[in-house]
Amino acid sequence: MNGLFVIAVDIGGTSFRVALADREGRLLARSAEPTRPQEGPGSGIQRLKDAIRKIASSVSFKEIIGIAVGAAGPVNPQKGVILTPPSLPTWRDVPLKEQLEEEFQIPIWMENDADLAALGEHRFGAGRGCDRLIYITVSTGIGGGIIINGQLLRGSSVSVAEIGHMVVNPDGPVCNCGGRGHLEAVASGTAIARMAVERISQGQSSAISRLVRGDLSMVTAETVVEAAGQGDVTAQAVMQKAGTSLGIAVVSLIHIFDPEVVIIGGGVSNAGELILNPIREVITQRAMPDFK
Ligand SMILES: [Zn+2]
Repeated sequence: MNGLFVIAVDIGGTSFRVALADREGRLLARSAEPTRPQEGPGSGIQRLKDAIRKIASSVSFKEIIGIAVGAAGPVNPQKGVILTPPSLPTWRDVPLKEQLEEEFQIPIWMENDADLAALGEHRFGAGRGCDRLIYITVSTGIGGGIIINGQLLRGSSVSVAEIGHMVVNPDGPVCNCGGRGHLEAVASGTAIARMAVERISQGQSSAISRLVRGDLSMVTAETVVEAAGQGDVTAQAVMQKAGTSLGIAVVSLIHIFDPEVVIIGGGVSNAGELILNPIREVITQRAMPDFK
């Protein structure tokens, strides 16, 4: 491939980010702005095109190899279409690859954002040197990517590894996507905050109330992690529950894919052992002996 630079785009429900990188993956420039999904895809895509032009202005467009787009899933990576992402409810069946190709006349690649994160961990991060890895991102939602024999696992028409929508509790709460008992509904950052608020509303005492000065609408996963780190029993129980649900999903994934490594990323992974310990416990208790 000719060219010296690549443009990377990350489209999420809250913001989209654009970066210019060299062939070794070093970031040379980056920018971010709100996606504003409530305005529909038209204005968001126009602002995205403007942001791409702006970030590319420091180099000649001829030197750019192409644009790699990671988008909130599910997407059709072959056609480059954003399908029905729960975090971008107005962006239905958006042919973004075609629109960007028309605008910039250079190659465009699109993948589910968590799939690209898995590739990133495989090439540059915690999964370097591993042929088989599973990456799970736990933040506002939960996503994932699977590398098998050094290649990203893809579906026939839709990006795969929607790990957040594995059923881990048939009687659990309804997920963002409308399905019941999905992992995202019981272990995402959003779910961690919700479960803490539910417990406090039911009368359990917790340092979380003090941390948000009594305003429970301000509780986030970070608040729960902070309280759990201070020894708060209610917050620790919530983290244990979320980690156990993640562990149940990880056990199934290990049985199916037998990976060399499972990588937990995303904002909630900053909780460290508070979330990793319960995952390890479930693996010890429930995985088949040869898979532990
Ligand atoms: Zn779901």
